[in-house]
Amino acid sequence: MNLDLNAQAAYLTILRCGYDSPCRASNCGANATTILRKSDRAGRPMQQIELCDVHGERVVERERRRGLGVTDWRGRSPTQPFGSGLGKSGI
Ligand SMILES: [Zn+2]
Repeated sequence: MNLDLNAQAAYLTILRCGYDSPCRASNCGANATTILRKSDRAGRPMQQIELCDVHGERVVERERRRGLGVTDWRGRSPTQPFGSGLGKSGI
């Protein structure tokens, strides 16, 4: 599993995961609580990844050190699946 976010990304947005998804980090079976979405300089979403708290914080810290602008939107409404209709109802 490659947690590297694309070097072209300029912004990283932290979102609360509003759907049922496993953490995408390898060997982590936790439920994802966080979505990290990277955007280019024009603010266009490029990619997103679902992560648990531990892995999410790890990636945020790394990307922040790389100079990405980090925006925390976890106080907002839960985010629905991005570009798919595969979301499952939560427990
Ligand atoms: Zn994890």
